Amino acid sequence: MTEKLLTEVFDENYKEIMDKIASAAVKSGRKAEDITLLAAVKTVSPELINYAIDNGISVIGDNRVQELIAKENEVTKNVTKHFIGHLQTNKVKDVVGRVALIESVDSVRLAGIIGKESLKIGKVTEILLEVNIGEEESKSGFLADELMSAVSEISKIEGIKVKGLMAIPPICNVADENIQYFSKMRQLFIDIKDKNIDNISMDILSMGMSDDFETAIEYGSTQVRIGTLLFGRRNYTNN
Ligand SMILES: *Cc1c(COP(=O)(O)O)cnc(C)c1O
Repeated sequence: MTEKLLTEVFDENYKEIMDKIASAAVKSGRKAEDITLLAAVKTVSPELINYAIDNGISVIGDNRVQELIAKENEVTKNVTKHFIGHLQTNKVKDVVGRVALIESVDSVRLAGIIGKESLKIGKVTEILLEVNIGEEESKSGFLADELMSAVSEISKIEGIKVKGLMAIPPICNVADENIQYFSKMRQLFIDIKDKNIDNISMDILSMGMSDDFETAIEYGSTQVRIGTLLFGRRNYTNN
């Protein structure tokens, strides 16, 4: 069997994904440019990440602090970095200053620590609030019910700026079962936006991954996070 180069696989996948993003955007009355494709780069080699950046990718997301730091000097291309994984409070200082935006803020306490560490280095860090929209035990994030009061507390914290919401809905095996979660997220996004709270803007609604990004866009996502479908299935054996 002849193996395709990873770069060729990326090129094909990238083109296909961009076409699908464009169609889904139109279905929701928007343009392709209104949607950001974030490349989820866990376990992807720095060489391939650099290639991806040279060939269309402008935002990448890491979900492990250790990996973010390890790849730092090897991902040499100019790119916007987001942190998308669960963040422990003791690692905040390693992430602040390294990324433009932290997508996975799941408690008022974590927001406070990000603010404090940001002020220490004279920065304001942009964040998204992660919502546990399926109310799953195994996932972190604010529950929908507690989001509004968390938002008003977080709006008072210096050193951070809330830019929107992020969610990882439950894995759905039945077609269209995920729509309820995306719709709820869109409603929360609109409700918070309508309140016009100081220091809180709702510009980014980060939802949709390899299996469900088209539906997520149809239901209002402004940023999809895609790994597997861009780079191929992950191989964890040497990780
Ligand atoms: C890995 C990851 C993704 C991408 O998932 P795929 O199914 O590989 O597209 C998206 N969001 C987060 C937070 C991730 O960790």
